[in-house]
Amino acid sequence: MAPCGAGCGTFGAGSGAYALQLADGSRVVVDAVVLATPAWASGDLLRAVAPLPAADLSSIEYVSTATASLAFRRDQVAHDLTGFGFVVPRAENRPVMATTWSSSKFPGRAPEGHVLLRSFLGRAGIEAAAQLDDAEMTKVVRAELREVMGIAAEPEFAEIFRWPRGMPQYRVGHVDLVRRIEAGVAEVAGVELAGGAYHGIGIGDCLREGAAAADRALEHVRGLPEDAVPPQPSDVPAADGVAD
Ligand SMILES: Cc1cc2nc3c(=O)[nH]c(=O)nc-3n(C[C@H](O)[C@H](O)[C@H](O)COP(=O)(O)OP(=O)(O)OC[C@H]3O[C@@H](n4cnc5c(N)ncnc54)[C@H](O)[C@@H]3O)c2cc1C
Repeated sequence: MAPCGAGCGTFGAGSGAYALQLADGSRVVVDAVVLATPAWASGDLLRAVAPLPAADLSSIEYVSTATASLAFRRDQVAHDLTGFGFVVPRAENRPVMATTWSSSKFPGRAPEGHVLLRSFLGRAGIEAAAQLDDAEMTKVVRAELREVMGIAAEPEFAEIFRWPRGMPQYRVGHVDLVRRIEAGVAEVAGVELAGGAYHGIGIGDCLREGAAAADRALEHVRGLPEDAVPPQPSDVPAADGVAD
């Protein structure tokens, strides 16, 4: 049984079903599993069961990103903020790769007389900006907003969020890689993959994939013999280091 990299779960095959070790240390036995985890975590979870697709899953690279949301009084921003924001081409080699004018995009995102701007940092090959501490990151974003949009004012507040290894990268050959992963996982009855690492990273893609994976898992469960008795937790070996 493979240890869980993030320390929150692991599973192993047992008599055609799966024992899931949950974050609280308890285990449940199930007939099917949808791995809606990042590809690297799915690779960790699958390693003991299907090492080849597990290795391919682990090979999908991720970039760490961060967002910095800065709030200003409307009168501090001369720009008309008509539109949803701006994106910065890679060739510019700047730390901020895009800024969403959140209060223009989403009504009610900022109180009357205020605006909220959310800047994105960290892209493949230019991840350093996403690793800065909060104060440094705010400084960098303020400098970018000053240069790109002419905003010199002190923000009312700044809020930083981080997504370590949060953005899967679709390299050349990704389609073939995913095809190979899916063919390998299809050999493991009752295990399905879903999430942004495979066929699109947009929320809509993830929802579509999750629903399709759930349908396939249900189809698998419905196809099981009616009198199949799943193994009980005591029938399957415990995860490394986990006491029964
Ligand atoms: C900063 C940022 C902004 C974005 N903006 C947009 C946008 O405006 N529009 C859009 O469509 N998309 C956007 N995206 C992309 C989109 O949000 C993601 O691609 C999508 O949310 C990924 O969904 P997911 O289910 O694949 O992964 P996640 O939502 O990351 O879910 C994976 C889950 O797996 C869990 N997990 C991890 N390891 C384990 C483990 N070992 N065991 C158990 N659970 C585990 C995690 O806790 C998490 O809950 C954005 C992404 C980022 C990072």
